Amino acid sequence: TDIKELLLSRIRDVADYPEPGVMFKDITPLLADPAAFTALTDALAEIAANTGATKVVGLEARGFILGAPVAVRAGLGFVPVRKAGKLPGATLGQTYDLEYGSAEIEVHAEDLSAEDRILIIDDVLATGGTAEASIQLMRRAGAEVAGLAVLMELGFLGGRARLEPSLTGAPLEAL
Ligand code: 5GP
Repeated sequence: TDIKELLLSRIRDVADYPEPGVMFKDITPLLADPAAFTALTDALAEIAANTGATKVVGLEARGFILGAPVAVRAGLGFVPVRKAGKLPGATLGQTYDLEYGSAEIEVHAEDLSAEDRILIIDDVLATGGTAEASIQLMRRAGAEVAGLAVLMELGFLGGRARLEPSLTGAPLEAL
């Protein structure tokens, strides 16, 4: 489709970043192009409406850049999921394994309730580790996951298959 071509044309491949052998998908050209950024925001806001989401959760850091305008456009609140140690209030935390070592993400518990249906937004789905941890975090906060939406899915890393059990039927939309 047209929007898919527009978005793809604004994503820059950067070889050997952040380490040798990795082809990094850089979304900053897309953010700098108002037509592309608006088209992306509108498409994600439509997903938010279609899934019946009550809040948008953005994953640090590029999930903040995409998620915040989507929340405003869809008329929903925005809740940041941050790397551990960045949020000042009472948090729920979730650790997950990386290739080498582990990482932890956190959310302010009081920003989520049992009435919430959450659309989780990030820029890139790679192995799915970050998304899986965030889904578990939502569940532990008592909120329902309405869906996961990303700009781009790196299909060869198998994130979709990995997330299928934890999504329990909620949609994974990759634009
Ligand atoms: P995963 O946990 O799925 O392996 O990695 C996803 C996380 O790493 C996302 O938060 C995403 O922003 C970041 N990430 C991994 N690879 C890329 C990439 O090629 N481009 C961008 N922009 N982010 C990436």
